Amino acid sequence: MPDIPNPSDHNQWYPFLDRPTPNEVDGVMQNPAVIPVNDADPLPASAKFVVVGAGIHGMSTAYHLAKKLETTGTGTGSDVVLIDKQGPGAGATGLACGCVRNLYMTGPLHSILRASVEVWEDDPINFGFQQVGYVSIGEANQEEDYVALNQSQIDAGYPSDLYTGADAHRFLKGLWPDFKTANCDVVLHEHRSGYAGTHMAMWGLDQKCRQWGVQRCFGVSVKGYALDASGSVTAVETDQGPISCDQVVVGAGAWTPQHWEWLGGPSNLDVLYPDGHLETGMDMWTYWRLLEGEVYLPEGIDFRTADGKDSPVLHVELMNTPVYGESGDMLQDHVYTYLRYAAERVGAPGIQGGTIPIQLGPRADVEPYGHLSDAYQADDWFEEYYCATLGMLFERFENIRPHFKQRRNGGIGAFTPDNVPIFDHVADNAFVIADSNHGFKMIGVGKLTAEMLVTGDKPWELEPFSFARYAAGTTFGDRNSNCPWV
Ligand SMILES: Cc1cc2nc3c(=O)[nH]c(=O)nc-3n(C[C@H](O)[C@H](O)[C@H](O)COP(=O)(O)OP(=O)(O)OC[C@H]3O[C@@H](n4cnc5c(N)ncnc54)[C@H](O)[C@@H]3O)c2cc1C
Repeated sequence: MPDIPNPSDHNQWYPFLDRPTPNEVDGVMQNPAVIPVNDADPLPASAKFVVVGAGIHGMSTAYHLAKKLETTGTGTGSDVVLIDKQGPGAGATGLACGCVRNLYMTGPLHSILRASVEVWEDDPINFGFQQVGYVSIGEANQEEDYVALNQSQIDAGYPSDLYTGADAHRFLKGLWPDFKTANCDVVLHEHRSGYAGTHMAMWGLDQKCRQWGVQRCFGVSVKGYALDASGSVTAVETDQGPISCDQVVVGAGAWTPQHWEWLGGPSNLDVLYPDGHLETGMDMWTYWRLLEGEVYLPEGIDFRTADGKDSPVLHVELMNTPVYGESGDMLQDHVYTYLRYAAERVGAPGIQGGTIPIQLGPRADVEPYGHLSDAYQADDWFEEYYCATLGMLFERFENIRPHFKQRRNGGIGAFTPDNVPIFDHVADNAFVIADSNHGFKMIGVGKLTAEMLVTGDKPWELEPFSFARYAAGTTFGDRNSNCPWV
């Protein structure tokens, strides 16, 4: 290890001190759960509901489903079996930055976010949710988009304020007097957004699953699904035998393409856009790898607002503003950066953030996942670029680069054809939550899914995210951004 500042004394290669040493399957290291899982249940032979994947979506679904069954008297919490090959947070959920925001140019997502923030607000302490708000900044070329999404957020019950021109500068300077407002032409301030400590969220959801009686079967690997002649799932096949079931929910993150294929979903499709344009034979899934990192805040430097509060999550995209490195060379022709206070993550006062992910293609090596993968770490240029963006925006972060935390970072995600989630049945009794890597902020999808499973009616918030949209010409894709996430 190079001689780097490490005030937390953490193991910089594998940063979470008390995580178990990764076990191996067929010689490949497995990303472990991010919380201890000593009291897992044995796999039963059958269950009414099987939820596959103990990430944010599987855990939220299992918890809300068990609670709803108990509180409506329609069943018991133990009707729900939650399966994961490792345990809570062993996928993207355990690595995520945990930013919760509603900055989407896809209008129907605003209601998904409203439903999700209601879940975060339900028990912010046990979910580790910090409702600090979210400030996003664009250049003049994004003003029209910001006006539209501000209105859509308000209509969806998710209040936000919009500032342009001199008002935008005044607002930013009021929050952070050392903020450099050049090219910051439009600002959106979402009040209900914030961030969550990802490991805390896993603790909280796991405790709630236990409280409501979910059978938590960790260390059980799904190997496929037994389908009848009509394509319905009769059993989930695992390395510990089959479990027959009535309904399956899959929240498998980066492993979704494998489960989708097992369930009979297509690997290619024709995609019709609202303007009549047809794209034939598109890949069903495209992997992207994320670029993220952490920076210690040295003595005397904080990420607080002028009135001493924890700062809102900050997101800046200046599509026409280049970023220059220490030698004066241009690193990228645009600014794209986000940051949030992350002491719980960094292990000392610090921030976590990243930039635009990089497209990989229809296939990627999902194992080993996350920080364990040599192939998908943040690139060498990322450290300089990320620190340069921080210094461009804040006087306090000029020359912050020596405090970049040298450790493994990154992770991959499976994106849909329009980079917007699919929340839909792939078989008549198998519902897939394919979040297209938007997921940490969409904790409410599990609650909506649970409502659907208990009442039989699909909540209207989920309707726009059907698989049928690609054939029907209601494919999404309205975005004016360098990034696939908005
Ligand atoms: C570096 C990074 C930063 C991110 N930052 C943010 C952010 O700031 N905000 C945000 O909203 N989103 C963020 N995301 C995206 C977000 O983390 C994901 O969209 C979300 O966590 C996916 O949740 P999930 O439940 O679908 O899947 P996962 O969390 O990946 O969980 C899937 C689970 O399924 C299990 N599994 C898979 N296959 C099998 C099998 N065959 N048998 C048994 N178990 C199986 C895995 O072990 C895993 O635990 C980030 C992602 C990454 C990688």
